[in-house]
Amino acid sequence: MMSTPLNLFNMFDYSQHMYGDKWIVTRTPTGVHRYQYRDFGQRVRQLSAALRSLGVQPGDRVGTLAWNDFRHLEVYFAVPLMGAVLHTINLRLSPDHIRYIINHAEDRVLIVDEGLLPLMDTLKDQLPTVEHLIILGPDPDPGQSPIKPAHSYEALVNGADPSMAAYDPDWPEDQPLGMCYTSATTGNPKGVVYSHRGIFLHSMAMGLANTAALSESDTVMPIVPMFHVNAWGLPFAAIWFGANIVMPGLAPTPRDLVHLMATEGVTVSAGVPTVWLGVAKVLEENPTPLSLRMALCGGSAAPPALIQTFEETFGVPFVHAYGMTETSPLATFSRLKSTLADRPAAERLAVRATQGLLVPGLFMRLVRDGQDIPWDGESMGELWLRGPWIADEYYHDDRTRESFEGGWLKTGDVATINPEGYVHLVDRTKDLVKSGGEWISSVDVENALMAHPAIFEAAVVGVPHPKWDERPLAFVVLKDRRTATKEELLEHLAKIFPKWWLPDDILFLPEIPKTSVGKFMKRTLRDQYRDYLTP
Ligand code: ADP
Repeated sequence: MMSTPLNLFNMFDYSQHMYGDKWIVTRTPTGVHRYQYRDFGQRVRQLSAALRSLGVQPGDRVGTLAWNDFRHLEVYFAVPLMGAVLHTINLRLSPDHIRYIINHAEDRVLIVDEGLLPLMDTLKDQLPTVEHLIILGPDPDPGQSPIKPAHSYEALVNGADPSMAAYDPDWPEDQPLGMCYTSATTGNPKGVVYSHRGIFLHSMAMGLANTAALSESDTVMPIVPMFHVNAWGLPFAAIWFGANIVMPGLAPTPRDLVHLMATEGVTVSAGVPTVWLGVAKVLEENPTPLSLRMALCGGSAAPPALIQTFEETFGVPFVHAYGMTETSPLATFSRLKSTLADRPAAERLAVRATQGLLVPGLFMRLVRDGQDIPWDGESMGELWLRGPWIADEYYHDDRTRESFEGGWLKTGDVATINPEGYVHLVDRTKDLVKSGGEWISSVDVENALMAHPAIFEAAVVGVPHPKWDERPLAFVVLKDRRTATKEELLEHLAKIFPKWWLPDDILFLPEIPKTSVGKFMKRTLRDQYRDYLTP
């Protein structure tokens, strides 16, 4: 057989020929911007030509600090198509981490949203490798930029000749396409480099009926930011397969998201559980007919109660998936096997609430103390992964040694796998509550709390305890106009868990602190309540 390279050129070229009339829609401050794939393709080529004229060479890193919109999508394709490396940067990280990431990746060009110029001001004179700043927006004024030379994105694109893009159809598949840094919980963020081949195969996996079944008949809205693991690969897969794309733009509220889903006929959308909790709140207050065939949820554990609300109250299929920056990110996907279809409803929900089955193309192991342990649904071990879209190292980082072993990625996630192959994530190693030598899953207790009708959000963390090493503390946010007492919530948990799993205290908060990608920030709670149970 021919070994034609699995590269982004193949995906882009196919998409341009087959689906030139499909639509890309972006929410903007003044309304919506719409254009078709063929116009998108023309601007992609113009941008590549413009970057080339600025001196960007194959292998150079081009950093982006931007929300989900059509211009960012153009950068997603223009940069790797010319052999350069698309480096998406999480704009919600601290300026210190952003500076570290740009300098560590040695970005030569930065492409940033106009609204982030104040951030650039705090970083000016500290980014020695950056040679050009390009400002995204309808009509930005480069004169306002604290970093020079600066250019208006629109002026660059409009002034460029698309025929100068000169893409190489045979660009080798093992070359870097992009990179992304994990958000750091301890120490500096770690970089992961994605190859053309990895992205190609990951995108193809998104089209499988066993996973997302993404196709040209979909209208896809990534809520997950384009700086969070490539918006989970949706932009690449959606463009390749010819789906319409809806981009939620700058800082969308849950209300904006529901409005876009309804007016644009979105069929597939993806976000972290806290996003879907917000969307659920809007839908409860204002029932709105939606054509969503799949609300994809990942990034942290989807509470079963959330799955149930979407499916039973809103009639929206809600699908749970798992992955990480190191896995591109799709690793497992929770769909009910046809052989389980006749199980009782509660059992079906429990299966769907697991992180699901391994995506075809990958391998997994469950390891404890260096040994493989049985897939019996009970034995807990660390999940190890291997496959064509799993990273094999961190970019220029000694921490590679801690996380990779013998060709496997050690995920740092503790899981069980049942005989059917369903992965259940018990916890992140660092979030497990270690009480008297036994483990308590913070996730399981959180999910049970969030199944209580009065609870909007819940987080459980382990804090030091003089006798038991650690004990769980729970933090809850009540739904509007709902009440619940601590005793009532403990009673609710006591029906589900053994007594020693029950939190030592339940504290009511106005809000659970969130990470830069919208996950519960358990570290903050742990630090803040470190001495809560020690005399
Ligand atoms: P960060 O480390 O910045 O949070 P990632 O998005 O790479 O960035 O996080 C990956 C981690 O998120 C996984 O290792 C796992 O702990 C958690 N995670 C992702 N998806 C799920 C899920 N569906 N259920 C539970 N945890 C999840």
